[in-house]
Amino acid sequence: MAPKCKTGCGKNAILKRPKTGDALCRECFFWAFETEVHNTVTAARLFRRGQYVAVAASGGKDSTVLAHVMKELNQRYDYGLRLVLLSIDEGITGYRDDSLETVKRNRDQYGIPLTVLSYEDLYGWTMDDIVKQVGLRNNCTFCGVFRRQALDRGAAQLGVDQIVTGHNADDIAETVVMNVLRGDIARLQRCTAISTGTEGSIPRSKPFKYTYEKEIVMYAYFKKLDYFSTECIYSPNAYRGYARAYLKDLEAIRATSIIDIIHSGESLAVRDAARLPTQGTCSRCQYISSQPVCKACVLLQGLNQGRPRLGIGKSSKVQERARETEGESGDRSEVDSATVTVGAG
Ligand code: SF4
Ligand code: ZN
Repeated sequence: MAPKCKTGCGKNAILKRPKTGDALCRECFFWAFETEVHNTVTAARLFRRGQYVAVAASGGKDSTVLAHVMKELNQRYDYGLRLVLLSIDEGITGYRDDSLETVKRNRDQYGIPLTVLSYEDLYGWTMDDIVKQVGLRNNCTFCGVFRRQALDRGAAQLGVDQIVTGHNADDIAETVVMNVLRGDIARLQRCTAISTGTEGSIPRSKPFKYTYEKEIVMYAYFKKLDYFSTECIYSPNAYRGYARAYLKDLEAIRATSIIDIIHSGESLAVRDAARLPTQGTCSRCQYISSQPVCKACVLLQGLNQGRPRLGIGKSSKVQERARETEGESGDRSEVDSATVTVGAG
């Protein structure tokens, strides 16, 4: 006989929650999942009434579930938010073009407007072009830096108060592990924060900070949500892959490992002597940067000068090289600051 739902609702359980091991029926799982996200949102006071919030939407499972849950909670608990979907088109044929079709369907299914910004319009380069020039070694560095800034630019154009992203507990635990292994104290300090960027750029928050990836997949599956599940064709990211595999092994032995690692990251104290970067603005594009010239501008300079390695490596060396070669030939436009309306302000 099928076990009964642990909540005592009387229905048969159809799943075992990865996070707690509880046997639940479908409806009680949805309720538990959504309520936990709501509790995370309220405990961290993520939103204020009347805020205009962009959901960073890629068409993947995390952002699709996030858009769905944000809409649901906004109505159920009357957050009073105005929502918009914000997508970045990196220009990856056979991957992003297809996933953007999913986002367009989500726009219609959820009735949330959608804005799409492309690398090609912003930087004059698609990821397809970048990979042709840099190969498959550092492509994710370019892509990650450009995406980060592209989201800020999109948010500035829309005039939103904040961006929510679908980063889940597994992503954050992975990042903690990677930053520990690299000894990157500055990032280690920031990576467990539920909200970042409150001191200048447009705030970003992670309502799924404590939500397990397995439960997001389960939620999407049982809700029959329309999402895109193919991996990026340029995804090497071997280092993160190892961190991910390591965490999956730990999770198999003890389900709470993921949350435990996040809690460890949160409670690590940083010695006073550890140097943390201070945020300023990029002298070229005016976006937020801890260096005189932001990483996006240096990477773009490298691409435009046919020296893609210019922006790769230690930031002090990168700044030096960028200064030395500044003004050398470059036929494509520098990050176009004309579209910047909010930026670091
Ligand atoms: Fe960009 Fe790399 Fe992610 Fe592909 S895997 S979307 S190239 S960051
Ligand atoms: Zn810049």
